[in-house]
Amino acid sequence: MSIVVQKYGGSSVADAAGIKRVAQRIVNTRKAGHDVVVVVSAMGDTTDELRDLAEQVSPLPPPRELDMLLTAGERMSMALVAMAIAQLGHKAQSFTGSQAGVITDSAHGRAKIIDITPGRIEQALADGAIAIVAGFQGVSQDTKDVTTLGRGASDTTAVALAAALGAEVCEIYSDVDGVFTADPRIVPAARKLDSVSAEEMLEMAASGAKILHLRCVEYARRYQMPIHVRSSFSQKEGTWITPDAQAGAQSMEQPIIAGVAHDRSQAKITVVGVPDKVGEAARIFETLAAAGVNIDMVVQNVSAAATGLTDISFTLPGSDGQAAMSALARVQDEVGFDRLLFDDQVGKVSLVGAGMRSHPGITAKFFSALANAGVNIGMISTSEIRISVIVDEVQIDEAVRATHTAFDLDATEVEAVVYGGTGR
Ligand code: ASP
Ligand code: MG
Repeated sequence: MSIVVQKYGGSSVADAAGIKRVAQRIVNTRKAGHDVVVVVSAMGDTTDELRDLAEQVSPLPPPRELDMLLTAGERMSMALVAMAIAQLGHKAQSFTGSQAGVITDSAHGRAKIIDITPGRIEQALADGAIAIVAGFQGVSQDTKDVTTLGRGASDTTAVALAAALGAEVCEIYSDVDGVFTADPRIVPAARKLDSVSAEEMLEMAASGAKILHLRCVEYARRYQMPIHVRSSFSQKEGTWITPDAQAGAQSMEQPIIAGVAHDRSQAKITVVGVPDKVGEAARIFETLAAAGVNIDMVVQNVSAAATGLTDISFTLPGSDGQAAMSALARVQDEVGFDRLLFDDQVGKVSLVGAGMRSHPGITAKFFSALANAGVNIGMISTSEIRISVIVDEVQIDEAVRATHTAFDLDATEVEAVVYGGTGR
């Protein structure tokens, strides 16, 4: 029998009614003749609520204990979904990440999957049961402690498990009908994509599209696992994330642009008055790397001839801002720069499309769309199939809408329905 892995996000299992609805859907898949493995997220905003609770008890909770707490969210949903399936007269067994064989490193809060040994899941399937697995968690190979894989990582649990089990497809259920050309919450005329290549999806996820966890797309690409992103609230066909080889075959018909992504969580740091000599940039970025700060875009200005000083600006996730500022402040005397500027009122807007490779003029069109909308560009970076700009946070929505329209992505009829979720 072919194995189907289904992942249900928090908004799909937000309450008892949602859990019953999802259970029915799972049972229908089982009745259609598949072995079914289900990965669940925590109910609704439970993970955020648990975090808030922890913060009230301790501003900096020990990472091990925080993981212990957060993994409880997924445990609640897995047990409830299993109960709802049993109520429908089918056999179901729930498993924690650890029981499901999700082996990770020991980096609490952002653990990486090292291996999956899904023996108990295979056994459950062999016994005729539907297996329900808690997403977003595993167990450390070294310490045997429970770990979490990072926010939104239930997607990654699902795809990794699908790959380990040799599943036919990994279905990711959320509260929208699939992957859209832009976030439907900002662009009501966003269009649903029938399919998108893993390569493009990777760039969109990395550029802030929240529909899929970045690492899940990396996994899908590496193991050639097809993903079907769809809504648990409707029966509509969603978006297929196709392994790249297949997408290549269809590329004659593929649109040039897949979509416009945005990311509000960015911040910008400028190191002012850096002496323009060998090794200064290296020293700055070594310092940031040692502090565990992820850097995105970097711009170094031409140094002023009179002073021999230059400015270096870079962007980073806003949540790394404090760590970056204090790490740099500690090396100020050694590096000899003047001062640091911090700006978290910035965001990133990205245009993604594999067709960019072969179509000139995309950059010009993108920038003139921004100019016509009165949006000033702070920084620019590109890959082969993506152009990103940093803009003022208050102008993000306008920038996304203007770009979407300029590239003729607007649908004539409204296709996007947001069925649930608080968008938290
Ligand atoms: N519940 C976790 C989170 O909110 C994991 C997930 O939903 O994917 O980040
Ligand atoms: Mg998610």
